[in-house]
Amino acid sequence: MTATIPECPELEVLFTELEAGAGPALAHARECEVCAAILEEHRQLEKDLSRLADPAPPPDFVHRVMARVAAEPPPLHRELWTGLSILAASLLVGLGVLVSNDAALSGAGTGLARFLVDGRAFLEGLRSGVNALWNTAAAPVAGLFALLLLSSLFGIKRLAGNGPQPSEA
Ligand SMILES: [Zn+2]
Repeated sequence: MTATIPECPELEVLFTELEAGAGPALAHARECEVCAAILEEHRQLEKDLSRLADPAPPPDFVHRVMARVAAEPPPLHRELWTGLSILAASLLVGLGVLVSNDAALSGAGTGLARFLVDGRAFLEGLRSGVNALWNTAAAPVAGLFALLLLSSLFGIKRLAGNGPQPSEA
């Protein structure tokens, strides 16, 4: 049993007559505030439902999307190669910095050799060698690692941003 007042028709009857377009229940609804409200609510619901079901894509929707996708250049490989190039360049630059700072490295070696002669000289030599190494190579090495990290992150981000490639669905 529904919670409508006694004079009101059953909702089932009301909706059946609404679909039919005429009937005593429908006539009653025109006079009754409660039933009119129910009918209005029903109408709104149907409108919302049809709005939900309606936006069917146009028949050539998939075709247009696929054409758009095909028109776009496939960026994945190009980005990948760009990332690899940056990575390779970073490595080469880093290697170059390390090789060119051989003097700093051998400075530490000289300090080690001095240790065999004089402990105090070693400490000084080691300190100066480490200082030289740190002063000359630390910044480039740190920069190199930052560059590698950034380029890797950049590459990963670009790859992730490209998302899955469209399949031949
Ligand atoms: Zn009523």
